[in-house]
Amino acid sequence: AVSLSNARMVRRLEEQATTDGLTGLLNKRAMLDTAEEKLRAARRFGRRLSVLVADIDHFKRVNDTYGHDVGDVVIKELGAIHQRAKRNTDAVARFGGEEFVTICEETDAEGAMLLAERIRAELKRTTFHAGGETVSCTCSVGIATFPEAGETWDDLFKAADSALYVSKRNGRDQANIFELGRSSLTA
Ligand code: GH3
Ligand code: MG
Ligand code: MG
Repeated sequence: AVSLSNARMVRRLEEQATTDGLTGLLNKRAMLDTAEEKLRAARRFGRRLSVLVADIDHFKRVNDTYGHDVGDVVIKELGAIHQRAKRNTDAVARFGGEEFVTICEETDAEGAMLLAERIRAELKRTTFHAGGETVSCTCSVGIATFPEAGETWDDLFKAADSALYVSKRNGRDQANIFELGRSSLTA
């Protein structure tokens, strides 16, 4: 009985170490391990792999207007939306405060765009209720695909992040695919 409960305890500790407490998704550290693994496989088998970075628009306003608890509910819901929209073979993490990263194996940029649009549309039509008011939020997404946009995790992530920046600069509530030669500063 003692060793059984120890085994359970170890499993729970392992889960806590790799899981984000608010959303139940992978945390950043676990995602970095998963990313390296999936990239190795993509390289070895000559497969595409796409990275999506989603970030809630003007999230500070939500916190400032309705409070941190309402902000947390929105983050949790966007996590659930990711979980419902992704494929079994995709990995999704809460990467930072209100930022989510998804890795899609065997997925080109157009396939990733379909997922991004599903996530974006779903958050947009979700309403939250806070203190008698109806609150809604949008998010912006950046997409980068291996190997075109980068061959290492760092390069791929940077590419997805700069595509996210393009989405923000172009008015938010949209998804963009990283394009070589397009500067996120001049987009
Ligand atoms: P942008 O459209 O440019 O993304 O605007 P933004 O306001 O979302 O900008 P930014 O990314 O700088 O702000 C993110 C905010 O998210 C800042 C911080 O107060 C809030 N935040 C970070 N983590 C949490 C969290 O766990 N819960 C809540 N409620 N808010 C968080
Ligand atoms: Mg934001
Ligand atoms: Mg952010």
